[in-house]
Amino acid sequence: MTSGLASLLRERLRGQVLENEPLARHTSLKVGGAADLFAVPADRDDLQSLLAVLSERKVPHLVIGGGYNLLVRDGGFRGVVISLAQLASLELLTGNRIDVAAGVTNRQLVSFCRERGLVGAEFLAGIPGTVGGALAMNAGAHGGAIMELVVSLSTLKGGAVITTERGELSYGYRHLEQAPGEIILGAVLQLTTGDPAGLAERIDGYLAHRRQHQNVGYPNAGSFFKNPPGEQAWRLIEQAGLRGYRVGGAQVSEVHTNFLLNTGGATAGDFLELARIIKERVKERFGVELEEEVRIVGQNGD
Ligand SMILES: Cc1cc2nc3c(=O)[nH]c(=O)nc-3n(C[C@H](O)[C@H](O)[C@H](O)COP(=O)(O)OP(=O)(O)OC[C@H]3O[C@@H](n4cnc5c(N)ncnc54)[C@H](O)[C@@H]3O)c2cc1C
Repeated sequence: MTSGLASLLRERLRGQVLENEPLARHTSLKVGGAADLFAVPADRDDLQSLLAVLSERKVPHLVIGGGYNLLVRDGGFRGVVISLAQLASLELLTGNRIDVAAGVTNRQLVSFCRERGLVGAEFLAGIPGTVGGALAMNAGAHGGAIMELVVSLSTLKGGAVITTERGELSYGYRHLEQAPGEIILGAVLQLTTGDPAGLAERIDGYLAHRRQHQNVGYPNAGSFFKNPPGEQAWRLIEQAGLRGYRVGGAQVSEVHTNFLLNTGGATAGDFLELARIIKERVKERFGVELEEEVRIVGQNGD
């Protein structure tokens, strides 16, 4: 069935279709099983053709960006994982607005703004991943978050392209409400103009801050848990005595205790068990329920 679907998709699409693709190659934690199929549509029309086939055949799909916030279970993903890497247009509109597609990286967006003296997106400097992933997660740092820049969001829902103004969207800390299967195509962002030297200084400062505080040395997904209201997840994990705690190849970083590391040969199962222990200990000690910021997807292994 998978190879039949792969052949059909190769006939219908101009983009790439891979079979049995290890998702460890596409995530920063470097763990997880394979996707039945991994598709990289050539453009928006190609994506719509792909989704039409998947919807007709009732095949599940999962969109990924850079995989920097994703833990794929060891059994991989039954269905089609879709990368929007080829949807990467970035256009300056009037009034300091930018039309940015989901596959553009945060790094490209920040450079684009820096070169044009556009202020507001500096906090994205050093947050790895794509704009699609940043919007889906409402990524942020240093007091800023990407949804605050959004004028309108463009998504694919049930085969139709829908544009939604920010006021009609529901979002919060590392969260954007989406319908099941909804795909973010891009957004129009509102920037302002400002002093180019100050802009460059802020970007360089944020990058230096990350080099100093997040130099953890091993593959990771950034902060594994969300900060509970009024608390810092790293502090709770540290005070629960878990600095350096290890399950198999997965370990709590000694440098930043909300970063879980793949120190070599870790499985997704190691990360899931480590996360379970952290949640249990923090709950016992402080009565606080930690919630994963990392999205956990796919099937369990054997
Ligand atoms: C070293 C390091 C530091 C980090 N620092 C920060 C930080 O300061 N702040 C912060 O917020 N995050 C941080 N992160 C986490 C991560 O970089 C962000 O969450 C980023 O926005 C993820 O983007 P991505 O493209 O990699 O998304 P992915 O990890 O590929 O996907 C994340 C989620 O978004 C969904 N998704 C992705 N693209 C789309 C789309 N087009 N349509 C619909 N759904 C989509 C995926 O299905 C998944 O559920 C850090 C990670 C690392 C490794």
